Amino acid sequence: MSATASTAQPTTSEQKPLQTMTLEQETNPWEAQAFRFDLAAKKLNLDPGIWKVLRYPQREIIVHIPVAMDDGSIEVFTGYRVQHSISRGPAKGGIRYSPDVSLDEVRALASWMTWKCAVVNIPFGGAKGGVICDPKKMSQGELERMTRRYTAELIEFIGPEKDVPAPDMGTDEQTMAWIMDTYSMHMRQTVTSVVTGKPVSIGGSRGRREATGRGISVVCDSALKYLNMPVEGCRVIVQGFGNVGSNAAKLLHEKGYTIIGITEFDGALYNANGIDIPSLTSHRKRAGTINGFSGGEAVDKDELITRECEILIPAATENVITSKNAAQLKCRILCEGANGPTTVVADDILAEKGIFVIPDILANAGGVTTSYFEWVQDRMGYFWTEKEVNDRLDTIMTASFDDVVAYATAHSVNNRIAAYMLAIDRVAYTTKQRGIYA
Ligand code: GLU
Repeated sequence: MSATASTAQPTTSEQKPLQTMTLEQETNPWEAQAFRFDLAAKKLNLDPGIWKVLRYPQREIIVHIPVAMDDGSIEVFTGYRVQHSISRGPAKGGIRYSPDVSLDEVRALASWMTWKCAVVNIPFGGAKGGVICDPKKMSQGELERMTRRYTAELIEFIGPEKDVPAPDMGTDEQTMAWIMDTYSMHMRQTVTSVVTGKPVSIGGSRGRREATGRGISVVCDSALKYLNMPVEGCRVIVQGFGNVGSNAAKLLHEKGYTIIGITEFDGALYNANGIDIPSLTSHRKRAGTINGFSGGEAVDKDELITRECEILIPAATENVITSKNAAQLKCRILCEGANGPTTVVADDILAEKGIFVIPDILANAGGVTTSYFEWVQDRMGYFWTEKEVNDRLDTIMTASFDDVVAYATAHSVNNRIAAYMLAIDRVAYTTKQRGIYA
């Protein structure tokens, strides 16, 4: 990537050249998204008008949500829903509950959803929501009241044909059940397809919970095949043991990969001979943490991700691989389970080191792909077996990996820029086809 690639653009590009970026600018997810978008758009020779349309979100909603807390006090939480694009279909994307949520982060995540859905060619645009809160410190009752009021504030902006939320960090199936119920109460009828990632008993899809992890395992298989590397002896380090990381580790373990390292926010484990993932999962269920597990040695979590391995999977949050640690990585493949785990400055360092990157908008697209299946099943009222869901997911992930790698080869760009180019090209096409309403 050229350091000056983003300068001569038809739109105002706020970011500075890479060398002069401060760590704060480097780790702003919106800047990272915009930088890569500009670079890919330039390479595509994108029409200047379409460039402006796609660079910024279509709609940004900010709500301040009053919640009656358990101790009788009233707290006000700030929430966002950003709809980046509805060009290819209804807006789609998760809702994040975290103390670190910011509008710039939600903007970036919404744009990434548009590109992600386009990479796997499913008929959705992109959106993301977030509420600034610490779900670990809130009771179920407080979370339920906050979720219902957040949903009520967004009632006219969401819907099966408008914008379809899903889980993300800090939210889960229960959160989606509350959103579905609140929306349904307002509509005076049960509307299951307003959210995805629901419990299976109320219109969720079999396989959705594991889908992001499964998608990761499928693209890892594809990458090994592409690079002519065997599964046997393939060492994997997974950063994050939440829904994405734990399911990726579980499925890769089942496929014969050797999971040598797992990191969590409160500790890390290493075992050169492989960690037994089912035992670790039972330990975590019992103890509430991965720490204290006898099947691995406790190590420093920041140091662990720099250890030698074939595949490193960041599966937690943004900005894990930055200018500070990218040069130390010793993996052959970086498979991005999280959204935005690598900064643009780190991208260049990884490229110089010859690390094969499976970019987030491809690697973690298994979640939204199965969300698409859930939305389809809800609308049909007919539900598939887990095998049917998984087979369809495998087919889409394998084909999308092949598309991105072929695009990278054909246009002599890295996988990340290839994924952006492929996605932007698809969204630009529908935007032009639909025309601009005036
Ligand atoms: N939050 C997930 C993601 O970032 C899933 C989104 C969805 O299923 O709509 O891809």
